Amino acid sequence: MAQQVAIIVVGSTMIDMMTYAERVPAAGETLIGERFAQGFGGKGANQAVMASRLGAAVAMVNCVGDDVFGEMTLENLTREGIDATSVTLIAGVSSGVAPIWVEADGTNRIIVVPGANNHVSPDQARSAVESAAEVHLVLGQFEIPQAATASAFAAGRRRGAVTVLNPAPAAELSPSLLEVTDWLIPNEVEFGHLARACRVDAVRVDDEAITAVAARTTGRIVVTLGAEGAAVCEDGHVTRVMAPPVQAVDTTGAGDAFVGTFASGLARGLSPAAAAELGCRCAAISDTRQGTQTSFPSVDEIAELRRELRRDG
Ligand code: ADP
Repeated sequence: MAQQVAIIVVGSTMIDMMTYAERVPAAGETLIGERFAQGFGGKGANQAVMASRLGAAVAMVNCVGDDVFGEMTLENLTREGIDATSVTLIAGVSSGVAPIWVEADGTNRIIVVPGANNHVSPDQARSAVESAAEVHLVLGQFEIPQAATASAFAAGRRRGAVTVLNPAPAAELSPSLLEVTDWLIPNEVEFGHLARACRVDAVRVDDEAITAVAARTTGRIVVTLGAEGAAVCEDGHVTRVMAPPVQAVDTTGAGDAFVGTFASGLARGLSPAAAAELGCRCAAISDTRQGTQTSFPSVDEIAELRRELRRDG
């Protein structure tokens, strides 16, 4: 059996709380809703779950509150085979939650409360990476303080790990985090932010704009392009990877499915283009189903996908 790769995800956990009603209430009004659903989310947790289902040994660095959501989050990570020993419980703070209101026509209103996610500290992140038995790749996003992610990445690099940043949701990237990042994986909106910060004219996400942004940042970028797939840029050269055509039902979490898969593939030694191709395949499966983590391909489906890719050469 091939050696299992070790990935540390320094990122967020969140409980999505979807309330479905004909319409949203006006100020001061109480309405009877139609349906309620709860889901596990947070970009960090989503990407960790995807990488774990692909067979990586994944450890999560995060903070949860001392509430029922924190307990549920820890249980979910454990159920997904993720090492949660570096998830710290913070007293007197709520876990990360995202109450979501969905109206009959699909319009949604979301309030994200990061809560304990804001308490992930540079020291916690560094010591989690330093004390891990093994680490091949450190993966981060923007839903916890950037200083904590930078600290985990710096520690990872000292141990020879590759660092991958999904700069989402779009925000300004701090120079100290950029300095310790090997790969950037933005979607088109996040790419626009990076381009503006680098003073690159990126009206279209074409090869010229991607190579220009790569040259001014990490040198290695993967831009996800929705139904158009992804563009991988390394050494000043762009490779386009097509997304398989699917009937998309719910694209929530597709980006996280892509990033978790790409990171796992890269850590396993796949070429960046091959890792992106696998990422597009897993993201496409997630697009065809409702929900976030619940829409990700299962371990069995991934095994079948790998057999298919081998058959295709
Ligand atoms: P995000 O979900 O962060 O907005 P994208 O929209 O770029 O990011 O989607 C991430 C990945 O999900 C894409 O690179 C692609 O592989 C896949 N994907 C998204 N939408 C579709 C779609 N309609 N058809 C096929 N694949 C899709």
